[in-house]
Amino acid sequence: MHDPTPAPLAIDFDDSFVRALPADPEPKNRRRQVYGAGYSRVQPTPVPDPTLLAWSPECAALLGLPPAPDPEAAAQVFAGNRLLDGMRPYAACYGGHQFGNWAGQLGDGRAITLGETVHAGRRYELQLKGAGPTPYSRMADGRAVLRSSVREFLCSEAMHHLGVPTTRALSLVTTGEPVVRDMFYDGNPRPEPGAIVCRVAPSFVRFGSFEIFTARDDAETLKTLADYVIRSHFPEHWPTSGEPSPDDYAWWLAEVAERTARTLIHWMRVGFVHGVMNTDNLSILGLTIDYGPYGWLEPYDPGWTPNTTDAHGRRYRFGNQPAIGGWNLVRLAHALYPLVGAVEPLQSAVDRYSTTLAAEARRAWAAKLGLEERVDGGEDLNADLVGRWLTALQSTEVDYTLAHRLLADVPADAAPGDALHAIRGAFYDFGGMPSEVRGAFLEWFRSYVARLTEEGRPDAIRRGAMNRVNPKYVLRNYLAQLAIDDAEQGDPARLRETLDVMRDPYGEQPGREAYAARRPEWARDRPGCSTLSCSS
Ligand code: AMP
Ligand code: MG
Repeated sequence: MHDPTPAPLAIDFDDSFVRALPADPEPKNRRRQVYGAGYSRVQPTPVPDPTLLAWSPECAALLGLPPAPDPEAAAQVFAGNRLLDGMRPYAACYGGHQFGNWAGQLGDGRAITLGETVHAGRRYELQLKGAGPTPYSRMADGRAVLRSSVREFLCSEAMHHLGVPTTRALSLVTTGEPVVRDMFYDGNPRPEPGAIVCRVAPSFVRFGSFEIFTARDDAETLKTLADYVIRSHFPEHWPTSGEPSPDDYAWWLAEVAERTARTLIHWMRVGFVHGVMNTDNLSILGLTIDYGPYGWLEPYDPGWTPNTTDAHGRRYRFGNQPAIGGWNLVRLAHALYPLVGAVEPLQSAVDRYSTTLAAEARRAWAAKLGLEERVDGGEDLNADLVGRWLTALQSTEVDYTLAHRLLADVPADAAPGDALHAIRGAFYDFGGMPSEVRGAFLEWFRSYVARLTEEGRPDAIRRGAMNRVNPKYVLRNYLAQLAIDDAEQGDPARLRETLDVMRDPYGEQPGREAYAARRPEWARDRPGCSTLSCSS
């Protein structure tokens, strides 16, 4: 018989980070510099009227929590109003380079970890974002608005289902308390609904977590943190002697470099622009972390960034993400210097980034175009075909996601004109395409179908393989905004349906094609759909 009583929320906590790192001795929750400590004990600030808006059953399963919890109980716990037995909250200290400049101490200014749990042999940290001020809040309020919380909740889970390494999201709760934000920093502050996301990851340690100790000449805490991270999260790199050598630290850095490269190539594959790749926003585990003014490429443009705060330099534009990953790894290598004591091993670790990036990019592009990888003496023989494809895509407005998805439908024996016709749905203005652009596409398709014919893979098999790497459904910027618009009116139905669609991004999902549609014209310039600021 169906049991209408949902299972209680119970978690066994096992807080490894706080056991390993030194604690901030000062108990008072006031904004300040915190020295010689990995974290500060802090309590979430209660909110007046917590309401559970969304819950991820897949993320709940990771933690042994029910797929559909009692909404009242879940709202109280995941707003930070009620602590479960064993929860001992804290905020972590870290620093970072923001937009290329050292910014000093940052830290969990509005994130509060509730604890860590080990379920089915895997360790997860549960962290509330927007649960009130901490010693790291600087001038800000420790809160988060609903729009940015919806975006973090949906995108965390969408990325997971796309197969991109990412932090996860368990719950989204509205607080019943307005939060004042000046969305475009233009002197127009207004109250917005407040919300809290409970996010989940094996660890939220960032590149900047290491940088802060080195910047403060605190080699002892740096070593404590590195040893903790390696032992707990990279056990295969932990030496049997129990005492890492300088080379061990460098080998571990090489592993971080590889993971970072792989994740950035996934971003390229799915058309994701992070928007704020500061070193405090790069996970030491290679996860996508800190969903802020991110966006999805709609018309293909490697120069695009959704982040208005970065509109001038466009440091974090789509096409620059791989270079920034490398820049950030050099910052991490600097931070680890005290543990290694020599440049050469750190340099070769960082070099693993570019070699991994090149290999993964080659592999990803071959897969996206449905081709065999062809390499000769390190040279990518697909580079010309890939480069011409991207040049053609860039020469007119073509949707990045749809272009690759539709490409799978091109038969190997298609005439170039028919092949181009097969992807017409990706074009914003197929009929109005200038003749030289059309010519470039036809020229490209001539090479492409010749190559498909040469490879001789059956169309159906190639289509299946391509559809497993080229998603049909991504969290288009305007889809997130539509979910936000309704959620702000108190209606979470669209948000929940959007989550449901994003659970199967590579499937066809008949009846839900609207979620795969090209960006509508109304969304072209609407804030939230094409431009976002860091205000959240
Ligand atoms: P971000 O740009 O989200 O990576 O944030 C950079 C730093 O600012 C981090 O230390 C955040 O914790 C902090 N921060 C951002 N927003 C807030 C806020 N509303 N209240 C307190 N701290 C914040
Ligand atoms: Mg951040």
